[in-house]
Amino acid sequence: MRTLLDLILPASCAGCRTAGVGWCDECAAVLAAPPTRVWPRTDPGVPCWTLGPYAGPARRAVLAAKERGRRDLAEPLGLALAGGLARLRTRDRPLVLVPAPSRRAAARRRGGDPVQRTALVATSWLPDSQMVSLLRVWWGVHDSVGLTPRERVHNLRGRITTIPGRDAVPPIPTNAEVVLVDDVLTTGATARESVRALARIGLPARAAVVLCAV
Ligand SMILES: [Zn+2]
Repeated sequence: MRTLLDLILPASCAGCRTAGVGWCDECAAVLAAPPTRVWPRTDPGVPCWTLGPYAGPARRAVLAAKERGRRDLAEPLGLALAGGLARLRTRDRPLVLVPAPSRRAAARRRGGDPVQRTALVATSWLPDSQMVSLLRVWWGVHDSVGLTPRERVHNLRGRITTIPGRDAVPPIPTNAEVVLVDDVLTTGATARESVRALARIGLPARAAVVLCAV
């Protein structure tokens, strides 16, 4: 019942449980600092940046968005992501955000894909930017929860691809800066497979930017 009520009207801040607000100013401040470089265990082949560590309010918010269907968090998390990207992007180049894929069944169970929603909100704050959902995880890939780093790499190897038939994808400017975005960076396995999938269609990612990193 509590979860159901949260879906209708967030009862409290997802980061600190302050009543009456979905995401409070203090928790927002946690994700407002300049992004920091991180080096995950599995090298994704592009520079990785995070808005913060996977801890505290940021971690709780990501989990609430992912596991508890807190769709309202896409707005503040998207704004935070936009802030980080505004600092990192190259001036005078269009920005293309490609959300890292989540397993479809998992996304459905969680009430939609929170990374995609967050990325879309971020583009609404960033001039000359667009979100292009290009990546899919193949069937048979298990949720990565509970897997060891080695198992995660094995679980995902070659399993992330672009959507067949790119005709449905809006045209991407040739000088665009392509950035992979995700909520959490853990081992780097998802980022690596995503970057590889984009490279296979001639779309080199310049960086990966995440809300929080382990
Ligand atoms: Zn809070």
